[in-house]
Amino acid sequence: MGCWNEIVRGTRYSFKALGDLFFPRRCAVCETLLACEEVNICEDCRGDIPYTWFWSWPENPAEERMWTKAGIESAASLFFYRYTGGYGHILHKFKYGCNIPLGMAMGRDLGEKMVQGGRFKDIDAIVPIPLHWRRQWHRGFNQAEIVSRGVAGGLEPLPDGRIIPVIRNLVKRVKNTSTQTRLTGKEKAENVKNAFRVEKKVALQLLSKGINHILLVDDVLTSGSTLAACATPLMQYFRISVATIGFVE
Ligand SMILES: [Zn+2]
Repeated sequence: MGCWNEIVRGTRYSFKALGDLFFPRRCAVCETLLACEEVNICEDCRGDIPYTWFWSWPENPAEERMWTKAGIESAASLFFYRYTGGYGHILHKFKYGCNIPLGMAMGRDLGEKMVQGGRFKDIDAIVPIPLHWRRQWHRGFNQAEIVSRGVAGGLEPLPDGRIIPVIRNLVKRVKNTSTQTRLTGKEKAENVKNAFRVEKKVALQLLSKGINHILLVDDVLTSGSTLAACATPLMQYFRISVATIGFVE
C-alpha cells in the first residue's frame, strides 16, 4: 500500500512538473517561477509575509480603528497591506486577476491563525460584506465571499462537527458605492451610510438556530467605514467581529 501511495504521489508530481513546463506558475508576490511543491507564493516570500499578529493581540490597531465607528467585539487582519509593492500583488491578483484559489488560501491561513490566537472562539457564522448586485455581476464573484469560504475552512468546526456556515442572504447592499478610492475618510463614511440592509426574517431565523456571534469578512480594512456601515444594522441582532486579509496602515 505504501509503495502504491509512493507511485501515485510520484505520478502526480510528474504531471504537476509537466504542467509547470507548459503553464509556468509564478509567485504572486515576486513573480519568480514556483517550484513544483510551492503553491501561490514562493518559499522566500512566504517567510517574509508582513503578518499583523492581530489574532493574538487584544486592542490591536484594527480594533481601535473599528471602535471609533462601531462597537464590534474583536478584529483581525492577516497582513499589513500596501497598494504598491510585492504583497499588494496578492490581493490585486486575487481580486482583479480572478485568482480564486489564492484568495481561498489566504482566507484559510487567516482562519487557522485565528484559531491559534484563541481570541475568536465562539464564532457561529460568517457573513461576507456583500457587493451591490451590479458590481458582482461585473466582476463575476464577490471577493469577500471567497475569503469567507477560506476562513470557514481554517476555523475550527462547530461542536456538532459542521464547518462554520457562510451566510449570504442576511445582508443586502442596497446602494452601489463603487468608486470609493478617491474619497476622503469622511466622504467615504457618508457614501456608505445606509448602503446595507439586514433581512429581518433571516436574522430572526438565525437567532432561533442559536447563531449569536457573527464574523463579518472583507478583503481589506482601510478606513473601516464599509465594515462599520455593514456591522451597525447587524448589531441590533448579533455580536459582531471582523476579519480581513489586508490591513492598510
Ligand atoms: Zn516570491
